[in-house]
Amino acid sequence: MKRLGIIICARYRDCSGGKCFRALRERQGSFARYAADEPVEIVGYSSCGGCPGGNVEHVPAEFLKYGCDVVHLATGLVVGYPPCPHLRQFKVFIEAQYGLPVVVGTHPIPLKYLETHHKLSLWNEADMTELAGHLMTERRDVMESYN
Ligand code: SF4
Repeated sequence: MKRLGIIICARYRDCSGGKCFRALRERQGSFARYAADEPVEIVGYSSCGGCPGGNVEHVPAEFLKYGCDVVHLATGLVVGYPPCPHLRQFKVFIEAQYGLPVVVGTHPIPLKYLETHHKLSLWNEADMTELAGHLMTERRDVMESYN
């Protein structure tokens, strides 16, 4: 059993969560790391609280009360325009402060976002590849199905 806490970008605070929950069911995107037969539970789902992400300081403590094993920083932090400038800091902070591993990403990157980012220069390619390289290598047809 893996117990997950998910933190989304507050720009998408009204998001239904449909992409994340679909990806979890189908073990796609950053959830591909969990075997299809491994039970997975969401113990918490919250936004960062808005720039510069004050809720990240506190919400992992709440996740831990419910047995959290892993924190996922939602794919919106990667693909937003601009991407979250604090992504790496959030990961480093949560891992150091709470001892929880942090995975960057939830659902696959929607193809239209990937294509736009490749036209823009908002991503530091080396940085994003290091943080979220597993999302970049998703099958194109899967990415398109998340548009
Ligand atoms: S860009 Fe980063 S800090 Fe700003 S709202 Fe989104 S996740 Fe939070």
